Amino acid sequence: MSITPAAEHRAPGASRLPSTGSLIDRLDRPLRDLRISVTDRCNFRCVYCMPRAVFGRDYAFLSRDELLSFEEIERISRIAVAHGVRKLRLTGGEPLLRRGIEELIARLAALRTPEGNRVELALTTNGSALTVKAQALKDAGLDRLTVSVDSLDDELFQRMNDVRFPVSRVLDGIDAAHAVGIGPIKLNMVVKRGLNDGEIEAMATRFKGTPYTLRFIEYMDVGTSNGWSLDEVVPSSEIVERISALYPLEPVGPASPGETAKRWRYSDGTGEIGLISSVTNTFCGTCNRARISTEGKLFTCLFATEGHDLRALLRGGADDEELSAAMASIWGARDDRYSEIRSELTPELRASRKRIEMSYIGG
Ligand code: SAM
Ligand code: SF4
Ligand code: SF4
Repeated sequence: MSITPAAEHRAPGASRLPSTGSLIDRLDRPLRDLRISVTDRCNFRCVYCMPRAVFGRDYAFLSRDELLSFEEIERISRIAVAHGVRKLRLTGGEPLLRRGIEELIARLAALRTPEGNRVELALTTNGSALTVKAQALKDAGLDRLTVSVDSLDDELFQRMNDVRFPVSRVLDGIDAAHAVGIGPIKLNMVVKRGLNDGEIEAMATRFKGTPYTLRFIEYMDVGTSNGWSLDEVVPSSEIVERISALYPLEPVGPASPGETAKRWRYSDGTGEIGLISSVTNTFCGTCNRARISTEGKLFTCLFATEGHDLRALLRGGADDEELSAAMASIWGARDDRYSEIRSELTPELRASRKRIEMSYIGG
């Protein structure tokens, strides 16, 4: 992958730029949300994310010294918070595989916005280690949790994670996280037609009236490993229709600007669901998210073809002002809106576009 060195983005004389409190990109979108991939490894081989045929025994994962250290992640995060980031999400790969993740959470929990407030700390996990880790995550200062659950049918769940991991252990992990007081907890179900779309109603029924909010995610064309095709996407509108045939739903307005999920509540007052329509109802216009890959590249879009090498700056001795200026310059140049233009691309053009794997860039 060819990487644009972040230093190239530095405007002449910009190295003394102060932190802005708010960065705005070329489409008037602020930077508010930073997603940090802490490992490119995973103990699952979900068929739509890290298919075994690609991520097999010989796959070259990053070595330890290639990963950003906790100090480096904390430093980037501190600067991002000074620039307006209000939410940090740890992801991967499987973030709970990163040794000492609690220490990183504690470091990030100590960060303060220019107004002296905490930032919201979230983590996305496959839930496999939650029963063991929940208390430590809570003690370290984790606020929110998202757990991926693609099916309640154990045979199908195991077929999807492709490592024979039983769904009951993930469900126990979710309850363990709730019991120690982590919340809110959201559950993500990626829906792929012909694979787990038969589970939509069962998932809705199971989690209706529980403390957990279920979100349905349209299967996306991230990376090149999963062989995506549009036929395999189940549009959110179909999901809403199918669930409301069982339990009437009504739309709810967004809780915050830039929210990715469209919310619907059960008319009988037993909670709500979310729909993340990355393919059929895109939300680039309010997208306020940046991503840091496992090896410290800043991506301004999930579908960006190039990352900006912050690690080279960090390890090259850049001071905070230089890092801050680089981040400001990168965000200032941002004009990504891939999901909006996806339908304009021919299948050939789409296929020829370099795409970064979800497990590397972080979901
Ligand atoms: N391993 C953790 C997990 O599974 O929650 C965190 C990383 S995973 C890459 C983050 C999220 O991305 C998960 O909810 C996963 O289901 C979702 N995801 C992965 N590949 C996807 C795809 N092709 N389309 C839509 N969502 C995807
Ligand atoms: Fe691992 Fe998460 Fe990707 Fe599944 S979706 S393979 S759990 S990183
Ligand atoms: Fe944001 Fe890129 Fe996704 Fe659009 S395609 S919502 S710009 S990450």
